[in-house]
Amino acid sequence: MTSSDAADTAILTAAETIDRLTNLDFPRRGAIASLHDEARRLVDGPLGLAAAREALARTPDGAVIAILTGFPEFPWIRRGVAETDGPVGAAVLARSFIKARRAIPILPCEPHFAAVIEAAVRGIGLTPIAATGVDTKSLHPGDPVCLIEATDDPIDAHRWLAARAPALVIAIERPGRASTGVYHSMSGRDISHCLNNFEDLFLAAAAAGIWTTGIGDGGNEVGMGRLRDVVRARVAGGASCGCGCDGGIAAESVAASLVTAVVANFGATAIAASMALLTRRLDVLPTAALELRALEASVAAGGVDGQHNECVASVDGLAAPAYGAVLALITDTVDRVLRERSAS
Ligand SMILES: [Zn+2]
Repeated sequence: MTSSDAADTAILTAAETIDRLTNLDFPRRGAIASLHDEARRLVDGPLGLAAAREALARTPDGAVIAILTGFPEFPWIRRGVAETDGPVGAAVLARSFIKARRAIPILPCEPHFAAVIEAAVRGIGLTPIAATGVDTKSLHPGDPVCLIEATDDPIDAHRWLAARAPALVIAIERPGRASTGVYHSMSGRDISHCLNNFEDLFLAAAAAGIWTTGIGDGGNEVGMGRLRDVVRARVAGGASCGCGCDGGIAAESVAASLVTAVVANFGATAIAASMALLTRRLDVLPTAALELRALEASVAAGGVDGQHNECVASVDGLAAPAYGAVLALITDTVDRVLRERSAS
């Protein structure tokens, strides 16, 4: 075995540990094992590593990347309140792509989700900048900033892609339309009124040959379309939502890179960890403390837990100490490989 083979094996083994860790059903949500099994059947290798490899290969130095997130809780109150799952992972990815590729991240979102997303971005150590009127070419690649495009005006996806020219479009915990055209919560409720048409950016990007990455935990999120049969068979509401649309909650859109995790934010951390392994740079992965800071900040801005809806530092029922423990194990796994490598 050459030293390069040994390094590849160490990376693969670490990524496998992280893939398993991030798909364990800590919060007892029920269907993640089925979704993960199917994703693993479709993807050759650990999901985060496969997604990181493709994303790094397709993101040139200084490129724009688009990240979609924002999932409504309390959709019966006006247009809902953003949950903590999604914005934190989006912030993690924005930071990791700045570190690894001096990327310029842009996050389109609805104005009623913007405060939580901006806070997560700030919590991870980036400065959110309103995107309106900002030419990405005027920005300095590598600056720790993140463009936030908060708008309720429907997006003309083709015009948007032509103007922003992203190398990569990522969706994390962002509702995806079902076959009936309705967006659903996990409980099958119609949440279409809470959302702008940002999913069209993802669909238009895929059609134009721009690489797409979809991260989700339930099968009703943008990019999870390849899991639709498992969602129909194994997820409550998968075959019949009960909202009256006569369909199920399974999302239709298909991501080129498919990542499941029991908490979608963990899927982002798994990709960031894999990017750190592949670039051999621990600083590409935020520390557990930094990601927890992003979580605390998003809660202070009004983000709520997606399972019990309380405005506390918790994600999908997993409170900060348990959530942070998973992050610490991921960091330790990456750190061990990078230390072994620098010692050899
Ligand atoms: Zn429905």
